[in-house]
Amino acid sequence: MPLPHRRSRARRLVLAAAGTLLAAACGGDLASRAADEPPRDRHAAALLHAEPTPAPLPVVADLHVDTPTQALLRGISIADGPGLEASFAAAERGGVTLLVESLWIPRAAEADPAARLAALLDVLDRGLASAPGWALALSPSQARSLLARGTRVAVAAIEGATCLSAGPRDLESAFRRGVRMLGPTWTASNAYADSSAEPREPGGLTDAGRNLVRLANDLGVMIDVSHMSDAALDDTLATSRAPVLASHSNSRALCPHPRNLTDAQVRRIAEAGGLVAVMFHAPFVCGGAPPDVDDVAAHVAHLLEVAGPGHVAFGSDLDGRIQPARGLERLDGLPSLRDALRRRGIDGATLAGVMGESFLRYWDRVQAARAPTPRTSGSAPAP
Ligand SMILES: [Zn+2]
Repeated sequence: MPLPHRRSRARRLVLAAAGTLLAAACGGDLASRAADEPPRDRHAAALLHAEPTPAPLPVVADLHVDTPTQALLRGISIADGPGLEASFAAAERGGVTLLVESLWIPRAAEADPAARLAALLDVLDRGLASAPGWALALSPSQARSLLARGTRVAVAAIEGATCLSAGPRDLESAFRRGVRMLGPTWTASNAYADSSAEPREPGGLTDAGRNLVRLANDLGVMIDVSHMSDAALDDTLATSRAPVLASHSNSRALCPHPRNLTDAQVRRIAEAGGLVAVMFHAPFVCGGAPPDVDDVAAHVAHLLEVAGPGHVAFGSDLDGRIQPARGLERLDGLPSLRDALRRRGIDGATLAGVMGESFLRYWDRVQAARAPTPRTSGSAPAP
């Protein structure tokens, strides 16, 4: 029977090729050992190592998705829940390899914000447990090694520090559960800072807010200034030893909204080594009516001009009940943003930065600014 014969010959060729590749990858020692072994053992060794090795993945990072909240409210999985805009499945279709999962604490949850945080962390854990191609990263080096092994990456972020209800030290227990990014405010002002939606007079960080920022610095937790009032942003820049990021904010020069950043704020964030990530929510994009993917690209281009390459990324805010710009209704539409940026003449290296490399380098800088002796002990995950 010719077919099985051809099949087995093809299989032998594949195994031989795998053996050669393996020998090349592992260096001469293995190659010489393989040559010394009798043919039957060599065949067995090749079989043993013929497991497919997943290809390394480039970093393509969305710095803000609200998928855990949608999954919690609808009782579905962040991995592949129906109708989700930024599930793991939608991210994979859009070529996204790193998701910053926002653990959002709404006003409605403020009776017990710590319980909401715990429930969202459970949603994240369950989603990751059901998706073998995804894992939580606790450091930029871990993110890089996961991607190098072909595993996609989730990063846990708190949006709204009301869940740290017992004070800044609550951040340590969130850190032990894997949280690596913290936005002190959402639309409500709180015990730590005032929000752009509820600016106080005088506004800014409170004493507890300053302590929270310093503790975040010590732990290596990234500080997210999106949603902060202008005064709170000023105070955070003055207080933080580590660079800060805006995980989902656009340019106020292109779209005058208090949730967006002025050129002066963008410059200060970038000069300190920070990052600004453009989001897809139409009222913060402006542009055409309704705005489309090219209007979002205009924000990226403007921010690159103001902040310089290396300080701009994107954070869609998908699954955050936004009104997405046309063409970016789901994360699978991301290639159209990449195309729009290319059409604007953004070069390959700058584009790779926007798509995610700048985020990992930013996270490196936050790690470098940590306290020399970690303030947490015991079960704190290694950096
Ligand atoms: Zn938000």
